Amino acid sequence: MSCITNKSIKSPITPTWCPGCGDFMILNALQKALVELELEEANTVLFYGIGCSGNMADFNRAYGFHGLHGRALPSAIGAKLANHKLKIIIIAGDGDFYGEGLNHFISLARGNHDVTAIIHNNSRYSLTTGQSSPTTKKGTKTKSTPTGLVEKPFNPIASALVAEASFVARGYSTKFLELIQLIKAGVSHPGFSLVDVIQLCPTFNKKENHPFFAERIYDLAAEKHDASNKMAAITKAQETEKVPLGIFYQDKESMPYHAHLSQLEKKSLVDQWSAKTNIKKAIRKFR
Ligand code: SF4
Ligand code: MG
Repeated sequence: MSCITNKSIKSPITPTWCPGCGDFMILNALQKALVELELEEANTVLFYGIGCSGNMADFNRAYGFHGLHGRALPSAIGAKLANHKLKIIIIAGDGDFYGEGLNHFISLARGNHDVTAIIHNNSRYSLTTGQSSPTTKKGTKTKSTPTGLVEKPFNPIASALVAEASFVARGYSTKFLELIQLIKAGVSHPGFSLVDVIQLCPTFNKKENHPFFAERIYDLAAEKHDASNKMAAITKAQETEKVPLGIFYQDKESMPYHAHLSQLEKKSLVDQWSAKTNIKKAIRKFR
């Protein structure tokens, strides 16, 4: 089987994102990570949600599924259970994953399904022209909140930790080399991995630009953060003035959902499927 290469992963379609959009860097970091991990083309599947990030489906030449808002998640779980030898990566936005997909997000984390989620977090529903999303800050004026958002923002890092996610990290679209490493670490982790990526959106989130983040970001590893300590991770996740980047938490003993299923010990479900199976007869039997 052939591995993903720099040439094979690039589709002939040119990205249509706005100039300066952080999605360019996330796309390049993802492609570089997949190549460096030497993943097999035939066994890697990317699941996309709706949004500017989901348009990446056109720019990667890889097996994929482009779902409705929030529905890339259960589809990804289904694919993993059908063939647990696949590497499954979800690419979604903050509105998609933390809004419509929230219940599925909690299930992914609790079940420790072996799926990596790379979330383009620009704190807006940008494809639909900049409405507030779950991670928009309180008081922000957007097209959907002209007098300022009343709600407090959803905290994806803290929520993933309390939902028992076994790998939780935050990247930043402008920190390209670090982002490649975070994606590689997440994809290599056996179990659910969340890589929340702060993504610049110069069109609909002009205030939270690079100078804004440059003043606030810092590297967790440089601060000697212990990523095996969940309580320390939860404390770091509560910071609002500063923006920590890197791996908040990783359970190195993590055992993914499918590893608990004796049905999958010898073969994946697709390998157990016989072409001779009469599906109509099977359905009638259980009706
Ligand atoms: Fe990127 Fe924002 Fe433009 Fe969408 S609207 S392509 S997120 S800059
Ligand atoms: Mg968004």
